[in-house]
Amino acid sequence: MSLFEKAGEQFQETKETLLGGDDYGCLSCERAVEEDYEHCPHCGEPTVVPLE
Ligand SMILES: [Zn+2]
Repeated sequence: MSLFEKAGEQFQETKETLLGGDDYGCLSCERAVEEDYEHCPHCGEPTVVPLE
């Protein structure tokens, strides 16, 4: 499994964890963020992705 696919699976879980309302979320700490940050404002990891 590629790293990209692994991230996609984690992202699916993250989307289910988040209650919605925000457009972006962090894969590392699974918290919602308001903008497409290059680095997560919560944990500092570059894992912010858009929620669709
Ligand atoms: Zn984070």
